[in-house]
Amino acid sequence: MRVEFWGTRGSIAKPGSSTVRYGGNTSCVEVRSKRGTLVILDCGTGAHPLGQSLISGGAKSLRGHILISHTHWDHIQGIPFFAPLFVPGNEWDIYGPRGLDQSLRETLAGQMRYTYFPISPDQFEATIRYHDLVEGTFDVDDIRVTTRYLNHPALTLGYRLQADGATIVYCCDHEPYSQSLASGQEEFAGQDLRHAEFIRSADLLIHDAQYTAAEYPAKIGWGHSSVEYVVKLAQHASVKRLVLTHHDPLRDDDALDHILEGIGSQLHNATSVLKVSAAAEGDVLEIESSQAETSERSAGEFQAMTSPESALDDRPVILSITDSRIAAVLSDAIRAEGLRADFFSSIEEARELIARDRPSLAIIEHDMPRSDGMKTCRAIRYTENDPAHPLSVVMVAAQQDSAAAAAAGVTDWLIKPFTSSYARTKVRAWVLRTACRWMRAAIPDDEERRIASLRKLRILDTEPEEKFDRVTRLAAALFDVPMALISLVDEDRQWFKSCVGLSAKETSRDASFCAHVVYSQTPMIVADTFQDIRFADNPLVINEPRIRFYAGYPLILNDGSCIGTLCLLDTRPRSLRGSDIERLHDLADIALQQLAA
Ligand SMILES: [Zn+2]
Ligand SMILES: [Zn+2]
Repeated sequence: MRVEFWGTRGSIAKPGSSTVRYGGNTSCVEVRSKRGTLVILDCGTGAHPLGQSLISGGAKSLRGHILISHTHWDHIQGIPFFAPLFVPGNEWDIYGPRGLDQSLRETLAGQMRYTYFPISPDQFEATIRYHDLVEGTFDVDDIRVTTRYLNHPALTLGYRLQADGATIVYCCDHEPYSQSLASGQEEFAGQDLRHAEFIRSADLLIHDAQYTAAEYPAKIGWGHSSVEYVVKLAQHASVKRLVLTHHDPLRDDDALDHILEGIGSQLHNATSVLKVSAAAEGDVLEIESSQAETSERSAGEFQAMTSPESALDDRPVILSITDSRIAAVLSDAIRAEGLRADFFSSIEEARELIARDRPSLAIIEHDMPRSDGMKTCRAIRYTENDPAHPLSVVMVAAQQDSAAAAAAGVTDWLIKPFTSSYARTKVRAWVLRTACRWMRAAIPDDEERRIASLRKLRILDTEPEEKFDRVTRLAAALFDVPMALISLVDEDRQWFKSCVGLSAKETSRDASFCAHVVYSQTPMIVADTFQDIRFADNPLVINEPRIRFYAGYPLILNDGSCIGTLCLLDTRPRSLRGSDIERLHDLADIALQQLAA
């Protein structure tokens, strides 16, 4: 296996002239098997340069595994800055100890809440799977991973990786259970012996050694080891090579050199041939097969993975839909979220599915030729008997009937027509039982006349024209925004007659901001889409072009039909003053004159 150190510092990043040689980034180690399986141990600030390096390699559909020792900040703060998580097509599995009251995903999402960070984990574009771990063994492609709890104030796991006949053990952060052992005295017993056995015969041990034995008495209970203890541990466990890490932020390069010199005498008195060094950013080690481990398979192996408390519940979604187009869109959306879709055609079948698979969501068509959606919903409500996990029931219909819905126990509505990405966002929210922060604009009362007036202009799908491009160029320059559009809202899409800074020619009406302006016929300013429940989960916000700011002015024809907008878009939040809106109004009037010309 090949090992590269990207972050070696404990507690807080410490860049500067005094840490140039050993490095200032917090914990992050890259491990690769000969076959190319990529494992990253911890994601401190060292994950940032590692991510940049992985991206610059130009590899398409990058696949990797991140093993988190624990969720203290210095071991996870690189995650929001790890570029490969933002690349569509990449696949990442993130593993970490299962917390007591929340999943790994929720814990990691905590540091990305809006108060702390502008981007949420929902905006990672790579496919990401979260795995909550307990003690045990599991395989990551050709690397066998064994986990063991460490002694640290947070729930922490050590990782033993075996591949290509070699063994690497990573223990960060850990304090010996016995204090006198930590000071370098006493022999291994009890939990400390168990820790030594976890490490036994490793070809490489990477271990927390934040303090010296002299410093340790003032740091008891902080969850870290002394250098002297770790050397003794490695000798006891017949480790071949020891790399000390999680360097104290107060320790400069010279002090680390001095500590290594001191270890020389500790090693000199011993019979073992242990090699010791201090982890330095940029160090690369090739760990060769020692053969001793290849046949090792302990009888007590068990699965380390807990029943997946993954981002999405793994219970299926059941559907009763007769319209084949809607059925196809919904089952695609459900599968895209990694869930199973099971169709039922009678109440008896629904009862069977509910008893057998405990589905989390039922989607029912309101008006089916041979059954009544509301009746089916009532029957489902009567059947379910799991009050801890009530089934969400969603009604697919052309329009909402709130009174009947309340009586039958309908959770929510999915109003036709809808796009696959809209259905997918809604399904995800229903299964996770969170709010879907994406609202489609309602259809205006004069929709028929409006569409007729728009079509009469014979402008849809025509070539770009300078007289319109001049207006959007001017708008972008005047308001200093990267994107400006003349957007026309058609029956099921918005089409751009002119667009500055955007390559798309049209998007679905579902996702359209301008459709809201068309409905209200008044200007709309969204200062920050992340803070707006109508737009935060909109695909134009989550994905390219990543709209954070929107200002749209309605384009209203003489007959009163609102056909679209002149709008400004930015990838950053911002605001407009009253006089700005007047100017936008002027530009919208110019665009209208050109439309009529
Ligand atoms: Zn730490
Ligand atoms: Zn820690």
